[in-house]
Amino acid sequence: MKVLFAAAEGSPFIKTGGLADVIGALPKALLKNGIDARVVLPKYKSIPEEYTASMRYIQHIEVPVGWRQSYCGIFELVFDGVTFYFLDNEYYFGARDGVYGHYDDAERFAFFNRAVLQVLPHIEFQPDIIHSHDWHTGMISPLLDKHYRHDSFYQNIRTIYTIHNLQYQGVFPYEVLGELLGMEHQYFSPDKLEYKGGVSFMKGGIVYSDRVTTVSRTYADEIQTPHFGEGLDGALRWLGDRMTGIVNGIDDKSYNPATDPHLFQRYRSSVTKKQANKAELQRVLGMEENKNTPMIGMVTRLTAQKGLDLLSHVLHELMDDELQLVILGSGDPHYEGFFLDMALRHPDKLSVQIRFDERLARQIYASSDLFLMPSQFEPCGLGQLIAMRYGSIPIVRETGGLNDTVQAYEELTGEGNGFSFTNYNAHDMLYTIRRALSVYHQPEHWKRIVKNAMAGDYSWNESARQYKQLYEEVLSPVYS
Ligand code: ADP
Repeated sequence: MKVLFAAAEGSPFIKTGGLADVIGALPKALLKNGIDARVVLPKYKSIPEEYTASMRYIQHIEVPVGWRQSYCGIFELVFDGVTFYFLDNEYYFGARDGVYGHYDDAERFAFFNRAVLQVLPHIEFQPDIIHSHDWHTGMISPLLDKHYRHDSFYQNIRTIYTIHNLQYQGVFPYEVLGELLGMEHQYFSPDKLEYKGGVSFMKGGIVYSDRVTTVSRTYADEIQTPHFGEGLDGALRWLGDRMTGIVNGIDDKSYNPATDPHLFQRYRSSVTKKQANKAELQRVLGMEENKNTPMIGMVTRLTAQKGLDLLSHVLHELMDDELQLVILGSGDPHYEGFFLDMALRHPDKLSVQIRFDERLARQIYASSDLFLMPSQFEPCGLGQLIAMRYGSIPIVRETGGLNDTVQAYEELTGEGNGFSFTNYNAHDMLYTIRRALSVYHQPEHWKRIVKNAMAGDYSWNESARQYKQLYEEVLSPVYS
């Protein structure tokens, strides 16, 4: 079985969030299940030279973007056994920094979506399934229907679309339809690509793919309600059992505290070595050095989704408690400013690092005792999984994948791997943090919860099996 993943980011080449982790890890897990899974990504300027230098140039072709033809260079790199294709266009991807957020994202990703389909005959890979991810690749399924189905090469290709975050939809002005995608007005209706007067790439993936998945069961249920549905709950309800939730895993080889080269001290389960990481991080970040002070970590995009309003609301109160908080993230300037200002007032207790930093992220997972994710909504969330793998106990709000992967600790039975609260309420969160701190100070319970968290299976094994089953379903002759 041949499956082509199309996405806008993938570790270790280019990453802004959890999507990259998934694209870097799931194909490897599928490969182990006998599936020839490959990946196609844009060839961004920001991909480190250590990778671009080893890419093999295959050839270049022309890709139609509306009425124009654009250059598309095709490069290939086999990494960790997985074949990655990188599509090059100097103007769209090769000559600018960053991944998203450019004024012409509609054009950049219209090009990429079209290019993914256009290059297939040239890479000698005829996939049985194209598996697209999030809005950046949402137009692949509609473009396949519109421009390629008449060609026998493409006729039997099935499509799967995975929603990693419904909030980002890629909605662009009406003109995009004809001028960039080469589609007629008939595609612009509420049951097709139209969304609030614009053209939605996200909706394209949802409406035109054979199957839709999202990254946890709870999120699959949530997004069918108006509260979480971002205006697409109707379209998602319409899918019925063509939508399923399959929880993400993590690359447990890369995220392994016993071998992670970024840590100050590597460890399996040793509390002492974990504390040594904490002491070193305190020193590096200029915080008060005390290995007994409970440290709470956060590694996150600084956006409203991540529950930062709750934290802002009670941060003054929290700073009265005996704890340290380390925040690594970047994003909304409002949060960046607020947290930086608070860090100036509490230098011993609060460290705020505004940047994207893979090494520091891993050091925080390894050094912290607790990991805070009070999200408004969370499709899956990988932070809590990585944290548990590194023995840092998650404090989460019960939503989406956080709800599916974190079980509240029960002191009576000794079961559970974290702490959680239900309502999006700052004092409920504060209460839960304080409860976690009280358990931290009871060594018997603490040992138990850390053991539970570290013993969990956060690998891709089970979920890869579920994807395989889904692929088999859409390829079966009785599928309709
Ligand atoms: P999302 O995809 O919504 O950003 P996830 O929890 O699913 O959230 O995944 C976030 C991923 O990005 C994790 O691997 C996390 O460690 C990483 N990450 C987030 N912010 C940073 C940062 N500032 N520096 C390094 N890694 C980060």
